[in-house]
Amino acid sequence: MIDYKLHIPGPVNVSAETYKAMSTPVMGHRSTDFVELYQSCQPNLQKLFETKDPVFLSTSSAWGVMEGALRNLCQKKVLCCMCGAFSDKWLDVAKRAGKDTDPLQVEWGHHIDPEELKSRLSTGEYDVVTLVHNETSCGMMNPLKEIMEVLQEFPDVISVIDTVSSFSVVPIPKDEWGIDVILTGSQKALAMPPGLALFSVSERAFQRAEQVEDRGYYFDFLEFRSNHAKGMTPSTPVIPLIHALNYTLQKIIKEGIENRHNRHTELNQIVHKWVASKGFELLPKQEFSSKSLTCVRNNLDIDVAGFVKTLREEKKISIDGGYGKIKGKTFRISNMGDETVDSINHLISNMDEVISSFLPA
Ligand SMILES: *Cc1c(COP(=O)(O)O)cnc(C)c1O
Repeated sequence: MIDYKLHIPGPVNVSAETYKAMSTPVMGHRSTDFVELYQSCQPNLQKLFETKDPVFLSTSSAWGVMEGALRNLCQKKVLCCMCGAFSDKWLDVAKRAGKDTDPLQVEWGHHIDPEELKSRLSTGEYDVVTLVHNETSCGMMNPLKEIMEVLQEFPDVISVIDTVSSFSVVPIPKDEWGIDVILTGSQKALAMPPGLALFSVSERAFQRAEQVEDRGYYFDFLEFRSNHAKGMTPSTPVIPLIHALNYTLQKIIKEGIENRHNRHTELNQIVHKWVASKGFELLPKQEFSSKSLTCVRNNLDIDVAGFVKTLREEKKISIDGGYGKIKGKTFRISNMGDETVDSINHLISNMDEVISSFLPA
């Protein structure tokens, strides 16, 4: 059996208690038992999403909803804010869905500048904007509050915000900031196995969807809304993950949402301190650095692949050796999910032991 401690930025470690919750026997997805399970998740989900709107559960990974949102909302043209692998990919996905689209591209690791977004939107060409809040490939967190302030000036532009790797790590008040569609996935900071996407849709986004044809079926927001009213999902959902979700939400509420945010910040700082102590730099600027993971710039020119491999083989710890075009030029360490000061210190002492032979003399 493979038994690695995962410190890659998703999937992350899943606790034994979460797996246990998943082994609750399945029930019919139109039964009162299911409705009870679904509805008991809602109040906690709405607390976490900071919204009065319903929170939907999609049996898919996050990309399903990321693609689906475009099919539901775009009639004119989508502007894709691009600053890393996931946000860049969204442009490609929009094109494959047959949508007219433009990039707002910045260098990987840089943030999306609200002023630049404003000048692009002022052209009046766009009716949807996509943005990845926390660009996991670069460990960069966009200034979402400032970006949402700009979007409020354009009431005809629907915002679709990917919070896949920042959800439950930092506060993201959906209603207060006026986010139209917010989405996340189960396998990142929520520390569940992959397979469930969670999303919430504003009233004005529903109004848009009502005017859009060819929304398809599986990700049709209006199907989600009408089924939600009955405490159900449009099609048979991944029931074991919904049991896991119910357990996870209770655990989060017990910890306290603010405590959870603070814990992530504290753990992230421990990793940052280690990075600096070795003479490494961060890929993004400090002020835009993610709180869920650390993307280290390989400014010391070490053999990243060798370091990652040795850590995995000798210490049974898995970190990431860099994503796509910045593979080897960066490496990434996750502090998402159920990590604690002890578990992060354990990671660091193991990295310390392994890295010495890779550092320049
Ligand atoms: C992991 C990730 C995704 C993709 O999620 P899937 O579950 O593979 O669909 C999308 N966006 C961000 C920011 C991610 O970190």
